[in-house]
Amino acid sequence: MTTKEFAKILQDKLTSEYGVDLSVASHQQIYRALALICRQMMSENHKKFQSKAIGTGSKQVYYLCMEFLMGRSLKMSLFNLGLNDAAQKALAEADISLDSIYEEEPDAGLGNGGLGRLAACYLDGMATTSICGTGYSILYEYGIFKQKIVDGWQQERADNWLPGGQVWLKSHPDQAVEVRFDGEIHENWDHGFHYIQHTNYNSVMAIPSDMYVQGYDGKGVAKLRLWQAKAPDFDMSSFSLGNYNTAMSKNASAELISKVLYPNDNHVEGKILRLRQQYFLSAASIGDIVQSHLSTYGTLENLPDKVAIQLNDTHPTLAIPEMMRILLDECGFGWDKSFDICQKVFSYTNHTVMAEALEKWNVDIFKMTLPRIYQIVVEMDRRAREKLEAAFPGDQGKINYMALIGDNQVRMANICAYTANSINGVSKLHSEIIKESVFHDYYLFKPQAFKNVTNGIAYRRWLLASNPELCKLLDETIGTGYKHDAADLSKLNKFAEDKTVLKRLNEIKLDNKKNFAAYLEKSTGQVIDPSSIFDCQVKRMHEYKRQHLNALNIAAQYLYLKENPNADFIPKTYIFGAKAAPGYYMAKQMIRMICKLGDLINNDPAVREKLRVVYLEEYCVSLSEHLMPAAEVSEQISLAGTEASGTGNMKFMLNGAITLGTLDGANVEIADAAGKENELIFGMLTPEVNNLKQVGYHPNAFIMGDDVANAALNFLERGWNGENFHEVTQNLRSSDPYMVMADFKDYRRAQADLQRLYADREHWAKMSLKNIANSGIFSADRAVLDYARDIWHASAVK
Ligand SMILES: *Cc1c(COP(=O)(O)O)cnc(C)c1O
Repeated sequence: MTTKEFAKILQDKLTSEYGVDLSVASHQQIYRALALICRQMMSENHKKFQSKAIGTGSKQVYYLCMEFLMGRSLKMSLFNLGLNDAAQKALAEADISLDSIYEEEPDAGLGNGGLGRLAACYLDGMATTSICGTGYSILYEYGIFKQKIVDGWQQERADNWLPGGQVWLKSHPDQAVEVRFDGEIHENWDHGFHYIQHTNYNSVMAIPSDMYVQGYDGKGVAKLRLWQAKAPDFDMSSFSLGNYNTAMSKNASAELISKVLYPNDNHVEGKILRLRQQYFLSAASIGDIVQSHLSTYGTLENLPDKVAIQLNDTHPTLAIPEMMRILLDECGFGWDKSFDICQKVFSYTNHTVMAEALEKWNVDIFKMTLPRIYQIVVEMDRRAREKLEAAFPGDQGKINYMALIGDNQVRMANICAYTANSINGVSKLHSEIIKESVFHDYYLFKPQAFKNVTNGIAYRRWLLASNPELCKLLDETIGTGYKHDAADLSKLNKFAEDKTVLKRLNEIKLDNKKNFAAYLEKSTGQVIDPSSIFDCQVKRMHEYKRQHLNALNIAAQYLYLKENPNADFIPKTYIFGAKAAPGYYMAKQMIRMICKLGDLINNDPAVREKLRVVYLEEYCVSLSEHLMPAAEVSEQISLAGTEASGTGNMKFMLNGAITLGTLDGANVEIADAAGKENELIFGMLTPEVNNLKQVGYHPNAFIMGDDVANAALNFLERGWNGENFHEVTQNLRSSDPYMVMADFKDYRRAQADLQRLYADREHWAKMSLKNIANSGIFSADRAVLDYARDIWHASAVK
């Protein structure tokens, strides 16, 4: 499209929507007009894409997830529609910068962190690779809270995103699905037919709103269908009888279901409302999938040939018994046939092995809230126990452990593991770990179901749309093929010894650091030095991610520089960004400790030229897009065996940051791809961690005799200016559940190596180049094609 054509479309939209001329339109009006243009084009493209898919009988892939952390859509939509050049020029003619329009869009924060961002990346991947993909989630009225940090303490504000975000959504009330909660189940016989009657239930209507994700430069488009909870009909009879409160509260409790996202990451909260959210998503989505399949094929017999449903973590597990319910109660299928269909259709992705994140529901709550689903799960459990008895005769311990219900709890992971045709981890290491730990017995029972798909990212978002200078260098050196196929980035390996290219890489990084510093100053007032090393740890705040290990080292460096003011030390800026779950006390204390350590250091004239610590408020997808191009060190320092994959690590690598990390999650594959010599690896390996746990871990064994560790702990314990951080240090001294102290010494060794390596600018640039050049395998396109080949058995629409 030419600039002129685009300018006309934009003006027409501004006229029809707001009756204004581009020259006087507000940034908000321009943002909305552009969003509407994109939405309309994507909706048309989706219609064409789906009709082709149906014409060729292509398999439909449904990705169920309680979270989709979409971030902003305008930039990527324009980009993938091939309109960004025309849009930029059309606006430039009116003296408006497109970048300033992008800042008008709120992040769609319908997720907590990595898990929700992965789901968003896979919509991009499916669209780009022409896999027919639909995501299903909840239209939370309030997404992940907005973070404010007041005097070091995190405060949460409601994320009212819909006023700016709704332009991307189109509601389809005609396609609503009724979801039933509570009540009683009766089994009835009528003329010899057995049927199920559900009485005294509470209905909630699930109203779909759709948004689209355009694939890059192709015809593929993915759809994200978000369910909003509405009361079925205002309870006029209660109202008329004078029961105003009954009428109002029924309404309110139905609509509470899609009110707000639970802000926990890698941690479960066994609240009834969360269970209702889970069933709401599962039942609405399965109802929709069945309806759509029936309208195309008129039968469910061929469902497994035409439909694959991926359960992202155990949160949407209830889709399985809900599918059973529809097949049994509404379609009259027998049990064996129904279960066979479920086995073929459902696959499950595991995201964590940590016990506090394993979902189990109390039987009484479950039974009361979902009486029919409970009956179905009970029968699934009975039959599962029979099958397991046949596989492991007399091994009651194993059978009890593998059962779907046990210890008065419904076990979501076991429902998935027992039913799904595929159980995958999200990195090579994690996929091995699940076979040895949580799912060991299931691995013995059905080894062929266990697979690995290493996570991937929508790399164009963090490269083409975030780092234009690097893209320019890539265009000049390796051509433009990498824009379609991330594997093409490997062509950059040829330039590893090219001094001009290495010099350019350093210049680009410096420019990006200056840009980020300017952005930071403008948005927060904080000043950082672009010539210092940008060492970044951005991710959720969690003990297992060990931000306190990083902070402990900063404290040690501070004490060292106070004692040795003339020491050789390349100035460093430590950049943190992380939200803590509001109820996670230790994580909030960790935030306070880092912020206060920053205040101390940044205001100390003796060190402030060498050390800085900035805590970025409100870490979110759009902030990560600003930061990644400027990052030089990627802190990925979780205890080995705890981070399932990580995807932040991939965004950093793609932008040339060096991973300072443990061999955990996908860090292992990052080091394999780029070469171990091009990362800074430290710490215990997973077997060493397990071994240490086995023999009994005592942090004291590592603190005793380590003067630096002792000094850093004492310093934080004592505190300054009337504040101290003993909650964190006591925890490290007593239990230290994530073995921070065991890895502290080697972490310091790696930090010292970093200083040495960074001093040789050309060598550092070469390491950086090796990371960029070998990051192609971490593309979501690759990950989606792995799922399509190994799990979904789906192929691209031609
Ligand atoms: C990528 C991303 C994450 C995941 O980061 P990890 O380091 O893999 O935990 C979390 N939050 C946001 C906003 C992201 O963009």
